[in-house]
Order: sequence, then C-alpha cells, then structure tokens
Amino acid sequence: MATYKTLYKCRECGATSYQSVIERDSSGALKPNGQYRCTGCRNIFATIRAWWEPRRAPDFQTSTLSG
Ligand SMILES: [Zn+2]
Repeated sequence: MATYKTLYKCRECGATSYQSVIERDSSGALKPNGQYRCTGCRNIFATIRAWWEPRRAPDFQTSTLSG
C-alpha cells in the first residue's frame, strides 16, 4: 500500500503521512475508494483536508456528559 508523505500533520496524532484506503470493487479489483487512512492513528478521513484541518473550537458545543 502506498504511503504519501505530506507537509501537513494529522490533527489527531500529528503523523505526516497517510495511505489511500483500498477496497475491492464489484469486479474484484482492489482500488482506492477515495478515502484516506492516517498512518499514525489509523483513522479514516474522507478528504485530505479533513485529515489535517484542525477542528473548530468547541465554543458552541453543549456538554451532555454532566448532569
Ligand atoms: Zn493520525
């Protein structure tokens, strides 16, 4: 599986490389499905931008953990 080095860093773990997610298509061939897997935390992201872009500050989140 190919690993791509980037100048970006994973927002989750700080890894600087990712892999294409490979899936078997209807004809049985293994092909990238257009998603990306971080080589560090193994999370899967729909886009490269989603991989490196920091999350918004959770200013608007309401906590449901307490109470
Ligand atoms: Zn990661």
